[in-house]
Amino acid sequence: MNVPLLDLKEQNDLLRPEIEAALGRVLDSNGFILGGEVEALEKELAEYCGTRYAIGCASGSDAILLALMALDVGAGDEVITTPYSFFATVSAITRLGATPVFVDIDPVTYNLDIGQLETAITEKTKAIEPVHLYGQCADMQPLREIATKHGIPVIEDAAQAIGAEEDGVRAGAMSEIGCFSFYPSKNLGGMGDGGFLTTDDEALDAKLRALRVHGSEVKYYHKWVGLNSRLDGFQGAVLRVKLPHLETWTEKRRANAASYARLFTDAGLTEQIVLPAERPNARHIYNQYVIRVPNVRDSLRAHLTEKGVSTDIYYPVPLHLQECFAYLGYTEGDMPESERAARETLALPIYPEMTNVQQQYVVDSIAEFFR
Ligand SMILES: *Cc1c(COP(=O)(O)O)cnc(C)c1O
Repeated sequence: MNVPLLDLKEQNDLLRPEIEAALGRVLDSNGFILGGEVEALEKELAEYCGTRYAIGCASGSDAILLALMALDVGAGDEVITTPYSFFATVSAITRLGATPVFVDIDPVTYNLDIGQLETAITEKTKAIEPVHLYGQCADMQPLREIATKHGIPVIEDAAQAIGAEEDGVRAGAMSEIGCFSFYPSKNLGGMGDGGFLTTDDEALDAKLRALRVHGSEVKYYHKWVGLNSRLDGFQGAVLRVKLPHLETWTEKRRANAASYARLFTDAGLTEQIVLPAERPNARHIYNQYVIRVPNVRDSLRAHLTEKGVSTDIYYPVPLHLQECFAYLGYTEGDMPESERAARETLALPIYPEMTNVQQQYVVDSIAEFFR
């Protein structure tokens, strides 16, 4: 049997007539860059996230860059973030000439360890950038309290967390600016690159809208040096077809996670592997289902590959140890929990269309490895 990490075929086949019609509307309207479909999508996304504004842009990576630019992050500034994330979380900081200041992760949630946050704050701290890794929100309530106390704005890297919640508040609505990605493997994926930002602040909304078109509010008059980072009409049209299904897909992912927990428990595997933990009052949207496998992660992964089960490692090298960030001066041992996670985490298939038979096969294959 083959179990891919993600299979979009069923989803795309099901929506194909609607998607083709939507693409046809863009062709007829010539609205290729931003345009009516993107404007409508932005309203729908703001409503979904529970924010006043949503702003489309060219990728999740650009969303983070635009957010930091909107907060005037630049040379000499520090931004506090996690070393256990996708590269773009941190490259956006260094691209602007600012310095990332890493705070290690909580080993249970893999998100920023809030207990270590306050000691990382200096007079140079310009922003705090938590990541909602794998689809579960960072511990935002204490984080916000610390940020408010010091008067520091927060931006959420919510690229993996559309629809995630804490106390009923959605990702992107818990900070000054939320950053999202439409990369095809995210819970709401486009058919190419894309991203968006959320905010409740009218001035930040206006600035972000200007920054994505070279910093101009009036064409050819440039208030800031911005980017060319726009969401295109075709992506907007496709995403508008998909967005109404997002809640159903997310609930299926959550149901798959619950059934993994049952199956792993029944198979007596909860000693050998550590299952993902859901924080109370937080809605995990399971963009990834990540287990921790002490000592034998790589040999388990090789066994699963042999059995036809696709897996991945998010992420094998923590960001403080990346070659391009060597100049920051971090060494091995500085972020012990991130380094341990890099050695032990393994992402299993969790996509909504995955069948019970496939899930049972994944669990059986893991049980076979440990026998
Ligand atoms: C996917 C992702 C990004 C970047 O999004 P792109 O659209 O691929 O540029 C940033 N941060 C995290 C945590 C991500 O998972």
